[in-house]
Amino acid sequence: MVVTEMDNGIPENIKSKIRDVPDFPREGILFKDITTVLRDKVAFKHSIDLLAKHYEKQRIEYIAGIEARGFIFGSALAYKLGVGFIPIRKPGKLPSKTERISYDLEYGQDSLEIHTDAVEPGKRVLIVDDLLATGGTADAAIKLVKKIGGVIVGVAFVVELEFLKGREKLPEDCQITRLISF
Ligand code: AMP
Repeated sequence: MVVTEMDNGIPENIKSKIRDVPDFPREGILFKDITTVLRDKVAFKHSIDLLAKHYEKQRIEYIAGIEARGFIFGSALAYKLGVGFIPIRKPGKLPSKTERISYDLEYGQDSLEIHTDAVEPGKRVLIVDDLLATGGTADAAIKLVKKIGGVIVGVAFVVELEFLKGREKLPEDCQITRLISF
């Protein structure tokens, strides 16, 4: 497993914008609120620019963003890299034919869906989400993209909660990039 950690120095201006919200959405969860990164024009742009620089030579063909915060970072990155964007959504939201997968969350259980025709077989896909916690969500997204024929180039996160060891749940051949860790 190749993990690129970009914590050294520069992302401090992004990290300092992340707001801790205790006991959300449930007691005992310390929620890392990234809306305070998004509203900061320097931190938001910087997070996208850092990821774009890392992936610009990796021949990405699509970015698959995970609902909902993965849509925000994922679509901005797709625009910056000049590639297409694919939404991976909560059940019942995508209008056409879908594949579905269920998985465990840090706080509960959930399912994700992707359009079965979202990726042409063999195309190179980067998965993007705001945060890696227990890894269940990202693992489900990887499985969905593979199921419809995509090739996973990597998985990118703005934040990794290292103590939850989510990366251990991801496939061994998976390339992970994260900007910031807690
Ligand atoms: P997981 O499947 O446990 O890796 O959870 C990752 C997903 O849940 C991401 O889409 C995050 O946005 C969200 N999430 C889980 N835990 C947190 C947390 N402590 N703070 C913010 N978002 C979280």
